[in-house]
Amino acid sequence: MAKKFDGRVALVTGGASGIGRVTAQVFAREGAKVIVATDSNIKGGEETVKMIKKAGGEAAFVRCDVSKASDVEAMVAECVSLYGRLDYAFNNAGIGPDGKRVPVVNIVDCPEEIWDRTIDINLKGVFLCMKYEMKQMLKQKYGVIVNTSSVGALKPVPGFCAYNASKSGLLGLTKTAALEGAASGIRVNTVLPGPTDRTLLLEYLTGANPGIKQEMMNMIPLKRVAQPEDIAEAVIWLCSDAASFITGHVMPVDGGMTSS
Ligand code: NAD
Repeated sequence: MAKKFDGRVALVTGGASGIGRVTAQVFAREGAKVIVATDSNIKGGEETVKMIKKAGGEAAFVRCDVSKASDVEAMVAECVSLYGRLDYAFNNAGIGPDGKRVPVVNIVDCPEEIWDRTIDINLKGVFLCMKYEMKQMLKQKYGVIVNTSSVGALKPVPGFCAYNASKSGLLGLTKTAALEGAASGIRVNTVLPGPTDRTLLLEYLTGANPGIKQEMMNMIPLKRVAQPEDIAEAVIWLCSDAASFITGHVMPVDGGMTSS
């Protein structure tokens, strides 16, 4: 039976774990060939590829630090060299305010390096990805991009200045890209996940404070945290032809968290 994305090619950054891994698997389930990209977690990226192949899909791993232009340019070139085109890009790689990789600190205490690193990966990384992805999509006169922001862009919490700023910046960046791509058949949207289970972020947070998951659930009208599949299905829908009239859209996938 024909699948939704037969003959299509998808690129997923941050595909070594969490939301990226599951979205890469769903792209493959729907028939797309998938490039799984990540920086240091090579084992995780290769594991995602293995899982896709075991389920009968096609995928390849490409190492890429999204904050480095040369890596990003090479990643898109590798995608085109392997599979001939690039139809869907899920720019999802990011670092979070998890108390470990990005410390939770107020603005007055935030070291400049933390600010720079977070903006470099979460915001500049998406700019660089779109720069090279859109070049290829312009040649094809077709492409769909989905970026990963966060509920933190609409409902900032103290202590997360660099993270909140990086994820808010993605809203303007996404809309700009949508306007620039519209006449050439390129759509660009962003998803804003709420707290998501089975991700490193939630593992770190719950490890440091076991009660925090319940506290989060109490803040979410649907009374549960997201599963990576909730985010993945929204991304897949935004990429599909069912969403062909949607571009420049900011879509919370958060159980209603940003509605109040
Ligand atoms: P995760 O830590 O499991 O995944 C992040 C991925 O990004 C990993 O594969 C990691 O290797 C990759 N990565 C980090 N720095 C990179 C770099 N410089 N270059 C390339 N890859 C890099 O966490 P996740 O929760 O699945 O995160 C995915 C996205 O979702 C992130 O952008 C995060 O900010 C966002 N998000 C997560 C939550 C949540 O609750 N987990 C909530 C809102 C938004």
